[in-house]
Amino acid sequence: MTDQTTTARLIDGKAIAAQVVEEVREAVAQRNAQGLPLPGLAVVCVGDDPASAVYVRNKRRTTESTGMKSFSYDLPADCPEKTLLALIDELNANAEVHGILVQLPLPAQINAERVIERIDPKKDVDGFHPYNIGRLVLKMPTLRPCTPYGCMRLLRETGEDLVGKHAVIVGQSNIVGRPMALELLMARCTITVCHSKTYDLPKLIGQADIVVAGIGKPRFVEGGWLKSGAIVLDVGINRLADGKLCGDVDFETASRRASWITPVPGGVGPMTIATLLANTLEAARWQETTHQE
Ligand code: NAP
Repeated sequence: MTDQTTTARLIDGKAIAAQVVEEVREAVAQRNAQGLPLPGLAVVCVGDDPASAVYVRNKRRTTESTGMKSFSYDLPADCPEKTLLALIDELNANAEVHGILVQLPLPAQINAERVIERIDPKKDVDGFHPYNIGRLVLKMPTLRPCTPYGCMRLLRETGEDLVGKHAVIVGQSNIVGRPMALELLMARCTITVCHSKTYDLPKLIGQADIVVAGIGKPRFVEGGWLKSGAIVLDVGINRLADGKLCGDVDFETASRRASWITPVPGGVGPMTIATLLANTLEAARWQETTHQE
């Protein structure tokens, strides 16, 4: 058991993500040597939200670094929904494109659910399509949401046994909290999912062996709330007034209480992109097996 003065070990998301990207690069090279097509990822960005632009640039750059094909589409902020849906239809039919990612959030005139549902589930590398989420609910995962799936790899890299651990997830969004709960349940954790209406969050967090915070509020989770020795995954990415990034967990106090913790930046963020590429490879394989059936 870790005492209160212990400094947590860092879960180095940057290094683990680099390892995943390398695994993808090797698999792509092997496919190439076998004469199989290079996996292709299409990244679609609507509008000019500066945060989205940074994420999209990173995704495109990392895709190319693995030897995969990268297809880029930048649509104006006032783009009508039907134009985006027509592009998705085109990408669904394009055999060179194995994965389609539409950067969220989308402008108000576009219904994100309709867009997500239009993507062929076999090309849904974000893992947000109801088909892929449904498969995860049923413990038959296909393409899995990148951030939670990446978090599971980070947890496994600690070498800690997850079975039977109590995981408290703060946030219940479709892209972070909910799929995270499903992943942890599938790993045989006992889960508690919290949100903005949860009573006495500090008390619940104090019972957790694993805490996953995906709220979007800088340094919201205080170190003093944590059970000594807890594993902390901080999904939050918040930009402070001085331009620096911080997570949803107060790293300074939490790292004196936790046994393992992810930093921000350099924790969950890089893993999300690496997992996206692993998903694109998986999508290419899935499409090939379906063609052979
Ligand atoms: P979101 O859709 O706004 O969801 C936030 C969740 O936090 C909601 O479920 C909300 O509860 C809950 N919440 C808000 N205030 C709370 C409070 N005071 N106590 C308890 N729960 C509270 O956000 P998101 O898209 O999931 O993103 C969350 C954070 O993760 C953001 O900082 C985002 O930038 C980051 N993120 C990072 C990555 C990555 O790769 N590292 C990927 C995705 C997102 P209600 O449901 O009750 O409103």
